[in-house]
Amino acid sequence: MPPAPSATTPVGRFAPSPTGPLHFGSLLTAVGSYCLAHQAGGSWLLRIEDLDPPRVVPGAADLILRTLDTLALHWDGEVLYQSRRSARYAEALAILEQKGLIYGCACSRKEILASAPHPGEEGPIYPGHCRAGLAPGRSPRAWRLRVPPRSIILTDGVRGRIIQHLAEDVGDFVIRRADGLFAYQLAVVVDDADSGVTQVVRGQDLLTSTPRQIYLQECLGFPHPDYIHLPLALADDGEKISKRHGAVAVSREGGGRLIAAALRFLGQPFPEEWADAPAADVLRWGVAHFNLSRVPKTSQPLPESVRACLF
Ligand code: GLU
Ligand code: ZN
Repeated sequence: MPPAPSATTPVGRFAPSPTGPLHFGSLLTAVGSYCLAHQAGGSWLLRIEDLDPPRVVPGAADLILRTLDTLALHWDGEVLYQSRRSARYAEALAILEQKGLIYGCACSRKEILASAPHPGEEGPIYPGHCRAGLAPGRSPRAWRLRVPPRSIILTDGVRGRIIQHLAEDVGDFVIRRADGLFAYQLAVVVDDADSGVTQVVRGQDLLTSTPRQIYLQECLGFPHPDYIHLPLALADDGEKISKRHGAVAVSREGGGRLIAAALRFLGQPFPEEWADAPAADVLRWGVAHFNLSRVPKTSQPLPESVRACLF
């Protein structure tokens, strides 16, 4: 395996899915990843995760780009669109196939559920029916990666040591779906590697995906980035804030308040008396002062002060 990337100048990224306007949950990730990358003199890339056409909302990607611009969250280089990278994902899939690491799976969801599988991190653990080859007369629907019977260990910048046993907690997972689309896990790993990303900052909802991504990096010979999973903002119903709850109401005047709210949510003591500072100045403060050890380790309800900034 290649050595971990040098930590001297990190390459960070923000990778929103264009399923709606930027919401407060993704703003947290944007602000956190921006501040951490810039604090260390690194760059900050933008990737639009529009891999799954049924979930993409027309116009949402452009709206997100404009919102980031208004908030002075300027990215480096060209925007990467996952929808334009299928050929590259197919190449990665071919490498996994040559290495004998994937297999075609003929099972429908119904069949998997009917076999009374064990519950895993995300739904039932695939019981491995097609692992040793397809039964006669059956054809592959999806492609799965064989996972090894061992634990993946990582040190997350917020949560510390994380251990997941791939076979027991996740099982052989899909990397090309029955509808022909490449799975998120594969696309993220290929994109981060191709873009030279060394620092992945994102929400804690993705923490259970990270060991799968680390294993895929091993399989494909990619370096491992550093991982920093930020706490989620929770709505009243205890669910994570999403576009349903918290599309950010962006105006050039209110931008500073929003960034300040995001910084405070992340435990950073942005000074009260600068409440009316423009977004660029608030971000500059964030870059200078962001301190990972102040970030709360667990998800938090959305504070009243933030609600006032949202639709
Ligand atoms: N597109 C994912 C999201 O919006 C983020 C994926 C990632 O950061 O790896 O939640
Ligand atoms: Zn199967």
